[in-house]
Amino acid sequence: MSDTDTTRTSSSGLRTPIVAVLGHVDHGKTSLLDKIRGSAVIEGEAGAITQHIGATAVPLETVSRVAGRLVDPDDFDLPGLLFIDTPGHHSFTTLRSRGGALADIAILVVDVTDGFQPQTIEAINILQDSSTPFVVAANKIDTVPGWNPRENSPVQGTYDAQSDRARSRLDERLYELIGELSDHGFSADLYWRVQDFQKNVGVVPVSAETGEGVPDLLTVLMGLSQRYMKDAMQIDVSGPGAGTVLEVKDEKGFGATVDVVLYDGTIREDETIVVGGTHEPIVTDVRALLQPRPLAEIRAESRFDRVDEVGAAAGLKIAAPDLEEAMAGAPVRVVRNREIDDVIAEVEAELAEVEVSTEEEG
Ligand code: GDP
Repeated sequence: MSDTDTTRTSSSGLRTPIVAVLGHVDHGKTSLLDKIRGSAVIEGEAGAITQHIGATAVPLETVSRVAGRLVDPDDFDLPGLLFIDTPGHHSFTTLRSRGGALADIAILVVDVTDGFQPQTIEAINILQDSSTPFVVAANKIDTVPGWNPRENSPVQGTYDAQSDRARSRLDERLYELIGELSDHGFSADLYWRVQDFQKNVGVVPVSAETGEGVPDLLTVLMGLSQRYMKDAMQIDVSGPGAGTVLEVKDEKGFGATVDVVLYDGTIREDETIVVGGTHEPIVTDVRALLQPRPLAEIRAESRFDRVDEVGAAAGLKIAAPDLEEAMAGAPVRVVRNREIDDVIAEVEAELAEVEVSTEEEG
């Protein structure tokens, strides 16, 4: 076994909330994910952050180190946050779990100067339709003229340290953004003024470039999940695994494999699984469960560690025979102690929904 064991759920049976990042092109989705990964690596010792397939796990201890005094780990019992690495609302709409969105919560990234753009509006409609709680990352605050950056600082400190002029320029943009959110039916405010995150959307000023506000963003995400998602995060840790295919890939030495985000239960080597396929559900046995070697950036001969069990929520690669016709966005189910026909029927029913939603997207 490797240190990917950290992907397991806590003993309490609460799984990691899955976080998606949405927003208009060039507003900073990728940079923000990179920054979150980067600050977690800098703040923590090696292995503090686990690289997954298609997802990045940030454990609670790392969140609290990055967030400093903003997060007291004793206040939380969720194990951390799992960020889906493919940003963009296309991936958000095609990645579903049991008919709902795969992500439990979302970050809507908006360039604070550019404001609402067509894809911002698309994203906000999707979040509304799927009733996904979200926070707004008002990104690129460092581009406000006269801005004096303070690397990785919580936003309050950096805000207070600005000249009156820079601060009022930022305020102007933030209030414009809050107005735009209101035009789209969301009552929003700066996150530190929000009392009830179920009624109001929190706006977090951030810079994916300097890291300012990133501690706040992580704190708000933890708080949102802990307060409002805790019931949904309650899973049977030893139940049969359920997940969603992100990608189908050929992998040297393994043939066709699927990259999966597991959102429920566990999956073990040798277990029988049912995977949604382009023609019909595929019934196969897991040959190997793979996770990237820690910080394995280079395409070395073996970039993966084999693990014998993975628990939700986590990203992983599954190698098994007959996966050539597996389909991105399709469900994956571990059969375990159930009737195989029931599981096939479940997968078929879900596939029908995936197809409907893809058509709708047109
Ligand atoms: P995406 O299309 O939403 O994933 O956007 P990217 O993350 O690729 O960012 C688009 C561009 O904006 C890149 O050149 C980034 O370096 C830049 N960028 C992103 N965030 C920030 C920020 O907070 N400050 C500054 N100055 N530039 C940023």
